[in-house]
Amino acid sequence: MRKFRLLGMTFDEIQQVVLSLGMPKFTAKQISSWLYDKKVDSIDEMTNLSLKFRDLLKEEYEVGASAPVEAMRSTDGTVKYLFQVSDTDFVEAVYIPDEDRATLCVSSQVGCKMNCKFCMTGKQGFSANLTANQILNQIYSIPEGDTLTNIVFMGMGEPFDNLDELLKVLEILTSDYSYKWSPKRITVSSVGLRKGLQRFIEESDCHLAISLHSPFSAQRKELMPAEKAFSITEIVDVLKNYDFSKQRRLSFEYIVFKGVNDGLIYAKELVKLLRGLDCRVNLIRFHAIPGVDLEGADMDTMLAFRDYLTSHGVFSTIRASRGEDIFAACGMLSTAKKQE
Ligand code: SF4
Repeated sequence: MRKFRLLGMTFDEIQQVVLSLGMPKFTAKQISSWLYDKKVDSIDEMTNLSLKFRDLLKEEYEVGASAPVEAMRSTDGTVKYLFQVSDTDFVEAVYIPDEDRATLCVSSQVGCKMNCKFCMTGKQGFSANLTANQILNQIYSIPEGDTLTNIVFMGMGEPFDNLDELLKVLEILTSDYSYKWSPKRITVSSVGLRKGLQRFIEESDCHLAISLHSPFSAQRKELMPAEKAFSITEIVDVLKNYDFSKQRRLSFEYIVFKGVNDGLIYAKELVKLLRGLDCRVNLIRFHAIPGVDLEGADMDTMLAFRDYLTSHGVFSTIRASRGEDIFAACGMLSTAKKQE
């Protein structure tokens, strides 16, 4: 019989487990401490539980941590980890060290339904939502897990399409009973789904990054079919109801494609679209992917784009490109693995 996994359970869920097994209520605190403070790999290591309770717990439960099956190291220090989540499916997490920061980019789904034109994961189609266990395991089971300073949900999948599991993981990462991370260290990136956006903003304090890529609806639809269901202007209208001027950061991701969305007309339209919002725009260099007729803009064009935005009141940065030699673009390694 397949055992249930403790890793990825919230405190309330752990409490339900102990009560259902007839264990004292206080053991929930002990178990969560073994999982999330001491990060043990097995129930046997939970030595302040009596042998009887450990045996009882082991009948149906396990910690449920699993090491990555592959790691690819870039010359710039970036490491791409591959996790096996079913007989045929793999997901990626990318560790990105950068001076005093160490960021992990995690996945929320196997494949993705959003089918963005520029994305290798989108080409895989959708296979499954990751469970809270499988999402958290990406953080738990890499060697650098304890040294991370930031987590970004920008790997495979659309996080708002798996919102319940995402919110569970965010609770575990930010609660006093577990990781105690500040929500300011976590950013969730989304195309902006109608159903998930409002709930995420209201139920979490983590930073939000919206994938924008074009301020023009017709073009955004071509690049990102999700625009058809919930347009960028509707997204911006929802965002204007919330206050992002304090601790919580709102950013927009903008991949700059050569000859597609890199002219000043796009920058001008972005300024118009984002007027009145406390936000920043992250310009991203495009990693070419096989079979897609898009190229990255050159650096001079990106600098001019950034300077236009910043000088017109929209703070903008260019994100450094990392790990190009190890297929760091999302979905490339897992696609290769699936095809082996
Ligand atoms: S860019 Fe993100 S939302 Fe779009 S297909 Fe890829 S994983 Fe899905």
